[in-house]
Amino acid sequence: MSLLLSLPQLRGPILSQLRSTTSIFTRKMSSTEHFKQSPHKLLVIPGPIEVSDEVLFANAHPSMSHVSPDFIPIFGDCIRMMRTVVDTAEGQPFLIAGSGTLGWDQIASNLVEPGENALVLHSGYFGDSFADCLETYGANVDQVKAKIGAAVSQEAIEDALKKKKYKLLTFTHVDTSTAVLSNAKAIVETVRRVSPDTLVALDGVCSVASEEIHMDQWDLDIIITASQKGLGTPPGLSILVASKRAMQVFNSRKSRPTSYYASWKKWLPIMQAYESGKPSYFATPPVNLIYAFHASLSAITKAAPSLAERYELHREASRKIKAAAKELGLKQLPLDPDFAATGMTALWYPDGLGAGDILPRLAKRGIVAAGGLHVDVKDKYFRIGHMGITAVEKSRGDVDSVIKALKETLAEATAEK
Ligand SMILES: *Cc1c(COP(=O)(O)O)cnc(C)c1O
Repeated sequence: MSLLLSLPQLRGPILSQLRSTTSIFTRKMSSTEHFKQSPHKLLVIPGPIEVSDEVLFANAHPSMSHVSPDFIPIFGDCIRMMRTVVDTAEGQPFLIAGSGTLGWDQIASNLVEPGENALVLHSGYFGDSFADCLETYGANVDQVKAKIGAAVSQEAIEDALKKKKYKLLTFTHVDTSTAVLSNAKAIVETVRRVSPDTLVALDGVCSVASEEIHMDQWDLDIIITASQKGLGTPPGLSILVASKRAMQVFNSRKSRPTSYYASWKKWLPIMQAYESGKPSYFATPPVNLIYAFHASLSAITKAAPSLAERYELHREASRKIKAAAKELGLKQLPLDPDFAATGMTALWYPDGLGAGDILPRLAKRGIVAAGGLHVDVKDKYFRIGHMGITAVEKSRGDVDSVIKALKETLAEATAEK
């Protein structure tokens, strides 16, 4: 473990001794070669996920001015690399300090005017929250709800779009509460056929960088995500990419945006300035987090394995975990295996066992998994995330560690019942 990380635990004479050796120490620490994060339990919840040493070390960048000529191109690169991640040539990224939730506020306050209609496709917990957020800003929201484990069918979407004119349709790409994957391409096709002007927003907080997304090819209007899930960075950054159509709709608003901090009137000039290498200020960006994000995006978009290979590695990890779970007699929440997420797995507890039998036993074996989240069934299932380096860097052995711990846990829990 690095000395830097144990500094807060040091006291008195040791600390002063250390201070006197700071210069040697700083030089030594100037490369990631000497930086290793402290030993810890493996974090395999569906976000935050495991973060690489490179990304954590980038976060430890000396404090910088947010308008420094050294920092501006780092921010600009992040904007450009986000286009690569979601596969768009001209989409407009917004990187704003906040969590994934801020993406809902951005959509609700910039793209919908009070009194306008929005349709939310509900495939789990996050549909309700998105709807709640839209209503907060004055939208009239209808929800089409799928049963637990399913995504909303194309027929149901078509019916809803024929009944009413909607400014916006939203769906959760991977609903983190159910691990249900919605068919983004098919949804946009249905919308364009039935109601071509309706904007389509994809909540990709739990899918970007782990599920394939082709923003331009699929004709998506808005993608939102956050730093701490598939993008493998500590939490704290809301990321949104808006299509040309979405920006036109924004520019033709009759009323002003209904949020101050989330207003694109404020943020668009800032994003454009950073991208063109000029200083600009509205509200201070999370400078160090942007360095960390830059390190992660560079690994995702510019290094080996390629983005396409990363998707394949996520599929491989997912198949392995799902097959092992099946062998252990565990059933998945998603009803159709073709619409189960590849970045996470949601599993019903076996009969007679519950969270208290499984999660602490996994933790004892060094594995941090997540309990249920969907309000109706939250005590009946658990979730395992397998995004980012856990899926991509096979040499870490994360997937095997999870499977081994799961096997031992089930054997022990069954034996002790
Ligand atoms: C995690 C998540 C969110 C919320 O993101 P926060 O960073 O927790 O605010 C929204 N939607 C989905 C699908 C998520 O998985």
